[in-house]
Amino acid sequence: MTGTCPICGKPAATETTPFCSRRCADVDLHRWLSGGYAIPAVETDDEDGDEALNEALSEALNDPRNNPRNTSGNDSRSARPRQAGSRDDPALH
Ligand SMILES: [Zn+2]
Repeated sequence: MTGTCPICGKPAATETTPFCSRRCADVDLHRWLSGGYAIPAVETDDEDGDEALNEALSEALNDPRNNPRNTSGNDSRSARPRQAGSRDDPALH
């Protein structure tokens, strides 16, 4: 089962499907990572699928449960400096 490469429009290779080569797969990956993923100039019928995928992806990224920073709440308590001797000790009076 083969299609056409969404990057350059050449016939896709089985190993790198849906891309024609590893290079085009990398091009597509870089577009995702840079956040500027756009439908290639080559006409495809996948526009709706890509939009739905983008929507699901941004929803997942905005979900606080997926934010690893929220799981490190214990550190702030243990990192708090102890204030030894700052309180009056009744035994000294
Ligand atoms: Zn290609």
